[in-house]
Amino acid sequence: MVRSMQTILSGWGNFPKQTGHVYRPEKYKELQEILRLRNQSNFISRGAGRSYGDNALNEENGVILHTRLNRFLSFDKQTHVLECEAGVTFGEIIECFLPHGYLPPVTPGTKYVTIGGAISNDVHGKNHHKDGSFSNHILDFKLLVASGEFLTCSREENQELFWATVGGIGLTGIILSARIKLMRVESAFIEVDYKKASNLDETIVLLSETAGEYQYSVAWIDCLSRDRSMGRSVLMLGNHVMQNELDGKVEPFSSKRKRNVNIPFHFPSFGLNPYSMKGFNSLYYHRFKDGFREVADYDSFFYPLDRLLNWNRLYGKAGFIQYQVVFPMETASKGLAVLLQKLTQAGVASFLAVLKTLGEKSGGLLSFPREGYTLALDIPLKGGTETLGFIRNLDQVVFTHGGVLYLAKDSIISPDLFAHMYPDLPKFREIKDKIDPCCLFSSSMARRLKIVGNLE
Ligand SMILES: Cc1cc2nc3c(=O)[nH]c(=O)nc-3n(C[C@H](O)[C@H](O)[C@H](O)COP(=O)(O)OP(=O)(O)OC[C@H]3O[C@@H](n4cnc5c(N)ncnc54)[C@H](O)[C@@H]3O)c2cc1C
Repeated sequence: MVRSMQTILSGWGNFPKQTGHVYRPEKYKELQEILRLRNQSNFISRGAGRSYGDNALNEENGVILHTRLNRFLSFDKQTHVLECEAGVTFGEIIECFLPHGYLPPVTPGTKYVTIGGAISNDVHGKNHHKDGSFSNHILDFKLLVASGEFLTCSREENQELFWATVGGIGLTGIILSARIKLMRVESAFIEVDYKKASNLDETIVLLSETAGEYQYSVAWIDCLSRDRSMGRSVLMLGNHVMQNELDGKVEPFSSKRKRNVNIPFHFPSFGLNPYSMKGFNSLYYHRFKDGFREVADYDSFFYPLDRLLNWNRLYGKAGFIQYQVVFPMETASKGLAVLLQKLTQAGVASFLAVLKTLGEKSGGLLSFPREGYTLALDIPLKGGTETLGFIRNLDQVVFTHGGVLYLAKDSIISPDLFAHMYPDLPKFREIKDKIDPCCLFSSSMARRLKIVGNLE
């Protein structure tokens, strides 16, 4: 008999916090039993809880944790295809496969993310302009649907369900396992070129000019610099280091284990003030010299924040919103300028903002990554409802410039704006209605955005 535990949960932004009935099954049989018994009226899957908002929350309803459904199932050396359960994290894959010369082909900015979570938000990395989103590298996955059946979904089999589940925030069923094509690498190192841009336009030009030359690119923006230097940034541009480039001096897959630092408690809100944030941003901008080149290990390059365990506590108990938007190429310069102007005037944004180039969209009906420039930054919520009002105004700016907000980060956008930003929503609802007519899978986000409102 599988039991649940009533627990207060939140996403990585610590906002909102809600109670859910949490299950931690270890076997598929237990999963089926949870759905058969229906002690709650609906359920949502939860991976590592690294989404910032409410897409893995389900107030007063069932939340199914995947942390114990995390077994490697098979690996084919000829094709580099790994089959694993959905609760396996990127960190676990790297630990096991990097010494043999493989990495996940697309990775978000933290390795503490599960495969189920990565498919359900169709995550992107610093190489989206070259390699697309995570779903581009998924061959197929097994989905437990509301009827209790296990379905294989791929581009050929149950195709509609495949594209509704990719980016579908857990609403089509439970992903049990997936087959992923890993990327072959010759070393654990990345050669990084640093370039500095003195304002937003220069940042965009540099990102665009260097896109063909580098597999990975990201600009760290000082989001508190104003006027003519608004949007100044440090670009980090990287390519994998080949074995012959290491000159035999370093073991290709050696990577020093670094000690992690834990943030033990929620910081008091006065710790983050406009002066400390401005100081940090400025320090970072001046830390790097234009044209500097270094060889970084994969961990420092892909996951700089992971060494600071529980870094989200730096924002205090009230939590924060990570605001992530993508603007199409045509409107990006204008839209980003208006957004940064509002943020610098209000002085509310915090540590560095990140700007990346995104390439072609996958077929995921609710997938976020699409061609354009995406900006992500943290907004602390210590200002309470006033800050929430400020963010709602930003949503309007995003909308009027044709921008789209990322569901993995959201907890406040209105259902109307969401429907405008995601025009494939009616198609998604149609498929959801067919596969889950009684709405067995739901979440706080799904109800807030009225994705499932008409079905319950
Ligand atoms: C420091 C940091 C950096 C990040 N950088 C990036 C980035 O660069 N790019 C990017 O795209 N994202 C980024 N993210 C966001 C993160 O990659 C996504 O939110 C990811 O989906 C989190 O995965 P998770 O395992 O924690 O899933 P959760 O957050 O627990 O859940 C996410 C969604 O997946 C669903 N889900 C989880 N498991 C299953 C399953 N087995 N079956 C069905 N549905 C399931 C949940 O219902 C929920 O809707 C970052 C997050 C952090 C904290």
